[in-house]
Amino acid sequence: MKHVLTLSDGELSEWLGHRGHAGYRAAQIQRWLYYRRADSFDEMTDLPAALRHDLAKDFAIWSGSIARHTVAEDGTEKLLLQFEDRGTIECVLLRDGRRRSICVSTQVGCAMGCVFCASGLNGVDRNLSRGEIVEQMLRLQRLLPAAERLSHLVVMGMGEPLANLDQLLPALELATDQNGLGISTRRITISTVGLPKAIDRLSDEDCRFQLAVSLHAPNDSLRTELVPVNKNLGIDQILAAADRYYDVSGRRLTYEYVLLADINDQEEHARELVSLLRSRSALLNVIPYNPVVGLPYKTPSGTSQKRFRQILEDGGLNIQFRQRKGDKINAACGQLRRTMQ
Ligand code: SAH
Repeated sequence: MKHVLTLSDGELSEWLGHRGHAGYRAAQIQRWLYYRRADSFDEMTDLPAALRHDLAKDFAIWSGSIARHTVAEDGTEKLLLQFEDRGTIECVLLRDGRRRSICVSTQVGCAMGCVFCASGLNGVDRNLSRGEIVEQMLRLQRLLPAAERLSHLVVMGMGEPLANLDQLLPALELATDQNGLGISTRRITISTVGLPKAIDRLSDEDCRFQLAVSLHAPNDSLRTELVPVNKNLGIDQILAAADRYYDVSGRRLTYEYVLLADINDQEEHARELVSLLRSRSALLNVIPYNPVVGLPYKTPSGTSQKRFRQILEDGGLNIQFRQRKGDKINAACGQLRRTMQ
C-alpha cells in the first residue's frame, strides 16, 4: 500500500487518469487531506464511492502510528510517531498567543554527532520521505480545534534537514501551497548545522525560507569539539554560504548558540562572537542548554547567562535569549524518543 502523502499533485492526477477518474478530483482530495483534516477516504463524501474505494485499495493516508502523545501545562504537545520499519521520530505543536507553530523532524536519528544533543546519540538510521515529513504536519494540525490553523513551521526536530533536501523541499512545497497548508515561506524556518553546499543549493533554487544556522561556538577548535562535522567545513565557509543566502533571499539569518556551562559560555567566547557577527545583519538566538539524561553538559547559572548576554548587547549584536518551552515533556530534540528506548 502506498502512502498518499508522498504523491505530488502530478502523480495523484496521473493515478486518477489511470483509474479512469477525472483529474480535478486531485484538488478535492488535497482539500480533504490538508484543509478538512480527513483521517480516512470514507470521510471524503463528495467523491464518488468508486473513487473512494479505489483510493482505499491503493493508498493509506497515514504511514506511521502515534506511539506516544504528551501534553505540557503551557499547551505544548508532542507526538512520538513510529513508522513501518519501527523507526521513531518526534514532532511538536507549540502554542504562543495566537501563534500555532509546529516543529518537525527530517531523519530517524542524526549523523552530525553534536556532543550535547540527544538525537544523534545512536547515529542516523535513514532519511524520512516527503510523506513522512508531511504526515507530521498533518498529525499536529489535527490536534487543533477546527477554527485554528497552523501559522508557523520550524524544521528543527530530529535530523539534519539539509542532509535530506530532496524530500524536505517537496514537503515544504505542500506546506506553503494554497491547496496545502498555506503557510507563508517567511513563517517557515529551517535549522541547520551549516552545510555550505546545501545552503548554496537553497540559494540557487531561490528558496525564501528563514534559515537558522547552529553555530554553538565562535571559533573552529571549540566548534569542532561540540559539532564534529565542523572539522571538514569550518566556520568561515559556513558563514560565507549563509551570507550568500542572505544576499539572494533577502531573509535575515539567525545563528543559534546553545549555552553550555563552562564550555562555550565564557566572556572570551562572547567577545569572539561579537567580532564574528558584528558586521552581519543577523539575529543571534542564545538557548540555555536543556539537559539530556546521561550526558554531562549543564545549563549555565543565571549569573553567567547574564554576563554573557551583557557582552553581546554591549557589542551591538541583535540577540534573543530563547525561552524554554515544553521542557517538562522533553520537547528538546530527541529526548522523548530516548525515554522509549
Ligand atoms: N540539525 C539541525 C536541526 C536540529 S536541532 C541543527 O543542527 O540545527 C535544533 C537546534 O536544537 C539546534 O540548534 C541544536 O543544536 C539544538 N539542541 C539540540 N539539543 C539541545 C538541547 N539539549 N538543549 C538545547 N538545544 C539543543
